[in-house]
Amino acid sequence: MGTRDRFRRSSLALFLGILLGACVFFQGKAAGEARALPEERPVTVWHIPHPDDETLGMAGGILAARAAGRRNVVVLYTQGGSSDVRLVLNGVFFCRIHGRYHDPLAEGYHPLDLEAFKAARVRESREALKLLGVADEDVIVLDFPDGELQMAPVLAVMQELDQRFPGAQHRTTSVTDRHHDHQVLARALYRLKELAATSGRQLDVAFYRVYQYDATSTQDAAAGQSERAAVLKGLDSATRVPVADHERKRAALQEFARWEPAAGRFAIGLHSVPRLFAVAAADPHEYVDVLDERVLGSLRWRWRLGLDLYLRETALSYSIAPRWTLQVSAPYSIDAVRSALVYEQRSLSAAVTLFAGYGMEWSAGGVAPYVLAGVSIVDSVVVKYRPQWSSEDLGSSLQIGWKLRL
Ligand SMILES: [Zn+2]
Ligand SMILES: [Zn+2]
Repeated sequence: MGTRDRFRRSSLALFLGILLGACVFFQGKAAGEARALPEERPVTVWHIPHPDDETLGMAGGILAARAAGRRNVVVLYTQGGSSDVRLVLNGVFFCRIHGRYHDPLAEGYHPLDLEAFKAARVRESREALKLLGVADEDVIVLDFPDGELQMAPVLAVMQELDQRFPGAQHRTTSVTDRHHDHQVLARALYRLKELAATSGRQLDVAFYRVYQYDATSTQDAAAGQSERAAVLKGLDSATRVPVADHERKRAALQEFARWEPAAGRFAIGLHSVPRLFAVAAADPHEYVDVLDERVLGSLRWRWRLGLDLYLRETALSYSIAPRWTLQVSAPYSIDAVRSALVYEQRSLSAAVTLFAGYGMEWSAGGVAPYVLAGVSIVDSVVVKYRPQWSSEDLGSSLQIGWKLRL
């Protein structure tokens, strides 16, 4: 068997391996069983990435839902375990809030291990939510890894909640928040809405900005100028909603500033994002995304695999960011594997997507760079052009293919 054959067989095996892995992964996301329970009050489900986001960005919304006679169900997806604050509390890093290195034993508490730290964070949220009128049994605490939320498992949880609370409103963080977990929850909720729409249901969803308070100064907020400041920061596609009972929201925020180590209260929220807490306490508004083209463009993107079948090659593509795709392809006629980074841009009609990319071709003869460009039509038909530089299959520069979504 020649090198070329071995090369071809191993690239085929690699492809099948990736495909199989993808299938197993995507089957794993199938939602678990859930029953519809009779519920007299209409429900609002709050999908929260980290303990404190619900109070910082949505306390007013939670209070308003309750005032409207709704039952609030709050789901904490992570317990905020990856925060550096644990090291601050354990005396490893300097504490800017207290102006000293903490000394746990001298201050009457044991150094916090990961579980104790997560429990302390959840405690802060539970106490705050109590003040916002949320029943303790309506706080659902999950334990996904902080900072590493993934679309598929998050969507599976949302599907289960959607089944358990039919007709509920769903609220979460904004895709414009500069935190991965916040963006994943927003995209997953938008996906849930899209899926519901395919079966003829209109899901009531909204996206609250937590990091909006980062774009504003306390002085601006106190002077009621946060809207202007937000516009200056280019974050103008949000509706500014007044918080009707701002005193109650401030009281709830205060739960994240309670320093009572003996009672297991470590002011973790305040240690972690002091600025957000200061501005949220000063600004009697919350910020809800307006779903304009920019926001929708970010929401529609999701981690996913695609398989493009051409007459002369097969390509596997993986979305690594909005508009950016990593593509690996194997031509049938020569022993080579091509990998490329591709940028996509939807045209105005949204039916046509233009793309262009730069890649490397790996073959027995060495490594050669190449460029490619093309269009995909209604996400199904692809026309791809690849000018030939050095490769031997001169005929394959223009290809028409069919795009499958995995
Ligand atoms: Zn967060
Ligand atoms: Zn401290």
